[in-house]
Amino acid sequence: MIILSGGTGTPKLLAGMRRTIPEENITVIVNTAEDTNVSGNLVCPDIDTVLYLFADTIDSKKWWGIRDDTFITHESLTEIGHHELMRIGDRDRATHILRSDLIRKGYSLTETIRELARSFGISATILPMTDCEVATQIITPEGDMHFQEYWLTHAGEPEVLGVQINGIEDAAPSDAVLSSFDNEEHVLIGPSNPITSIGPIISLPGMRKILRRKRVVAVSPIIGSAPVSGPAGRLMHACGYDVSSGGVLECYRDFLDVLVIDQHDIDIKSDDIEIVRADTMMTSIDKSMALARLVVDLFTHR
Ligand code: GDP
Repeated sequence: MIILSGGTGTPKLLAGMRRTIPEENITVIVNTAEDTNVSGNLVCPDIDTVLYLFADTIDSKKWWGIRDDTFITHESLTEIGHHELMRIGDRDRATHILRSDLIRKGYSLTETIRELARSFGISATILPMTDCEVATQIITPEGDMHFQEYWLTHAGEPEVLGVQINGIEDAAPSDAVLSSFDNEEHVLIGPSNPITSIGPIISLPGMRKILRRKRVVAVSPIIGSAPVSGPAGRLMHACGYDVSSGGVLECYRDFLDVLVIDQHDIDIKSDDIEIVRADTMMTSIDKSMALARLVVDLFTHR
């Protein structure tokens, strides 16, 4: 199964999926448009969450960083007057240092993630969506800013006028991403932000065409008229989508086969896309596993 992922909602589902099907049968294609440099090292927030999830080290309270990490380097940098965009843990920073070192030695991002996954003992395949540089820019009345600047420096407060993914037209899915589709018919789009997490993946040239040939199941990250967490509502609205599962369906309409919406969600109707209701609030591992089982059934019993 191929799973398209951001860094919070889909990893919750991945936690259940890896206990439902063999981990080596899971390929995760991860958003890279929120990657950024911090204190000289490349931070890949979504990829790192997925790595730490499979390594069993994720801090599942925050859904980023390593559980029980220390922050000595970050605090020491602050003491000597260096402000960091993110509060980075010491062990988390080790991942960023190794990745950046490998990149400086000429490795592609895909190769560095393969190395990191190997050293963490991960048997799932974790693929950055591209080896090209792409960056999500949020357009606000205060100016255009990188997604991380909007979300962390400005706490997601500025009005959002639009979203732009810089570099996406000239980017390409990596060779590893392209070949992962060769022998795989089942694609799951997890409950991630359709604009800034899944948006960049499906905007890569040629990606929608590939997805149209697959059986694609998506789980909605929106319940009623609001996301479970994060800025998806404001970003969907700014991009002209209704903030609802119906809006999510519109984001994926040209390639989607099944949309899983929450049991408490408002009704949506579609002639061509199957709508399935389920408990999608993954507040425990048991609930993540139940949702994962439902998704597997949607692929196997058609
Ligand atoms: P980001 O990279 O940290 O922005 O994370 P994602 O894009 O992967 O996930 C954010 C999305 O996950 C938000 O739009 C939330 O609404 C959604 N989400 C988080 N937890 C859940 C959950 O338990 N159930 C559902 N259905 N959506 C969730």
